[in-house]
Amino acid sequence: MTDIFKDIEPMVYKSQINVPYSWWAGKTASKFFTELKENKKIMGTKCDKCSKVYVPPRKICPFCFKENQAWVELSDEGILLSYTIVRKQLASLPKKVPVIYGLIKLDGADTGLLHFIDEVLPKDIKIGMRLKACFLEERAGKIQDIGYFKPIN
Ligand SMILES: [Zn+2]
Repeated sequence: MTDIFKDIEPMVYKSQINVPYSWWAGKTASKFFTELKENKKIMGTKCDKCSKVYVPPRKICPFCFKENQAWVELSDEGILLSYTIVRKQLASLPKKVPVIYGLIKLDGADTGLLHFIDEVLPKDIKIGMRLKACFLEERAGKIQDIGYFKPIN
C-alpha cells in the first residue's frame, strides 16, 4: 500500500462551522418541555404494568416493552444519586467552573434526571442530599428552563 501523503507537509487551518438546525422533540418530550415552560411542572411517564415512573419521560417502558400511557406530575424536589465536578473550563460548558453535574431522583420517580447543581460548594456535595429545582423566570421549553438544582434542608 502506498502512502499518498508521503512527502506532503500537512496544513492545519483553524475554523468554525455553524450548523443551524431544528428538530422535532416528539410527542412525549414535547409534552415534557411544554409543561416545564408553561407550568413549571416536571412530568414523567408511568408504566401501567410495572408502575415505574420515568423522568425524563420515556414513551416505552424498557422493562415491559409497553407504551407508557400515564403522565405523572413529579415533585420539584428529590435526592442526589450521583454527581461529578468539572474543573476544567471547556468551550462547551455553559457555566464557569467548577460545574457540578448531578443525577437527581425526584420524589415519585424511579429514574434519575441529569442536571446542574448550584448554590453549594463542591466540598459540601453529598450523595443522598435533598435538592430542589430552581426554574428560570423566562422559560423556552427546554431542560434548561430548570436553571439548576440547589440543596434544601
Ligand atoms: Zn414497565
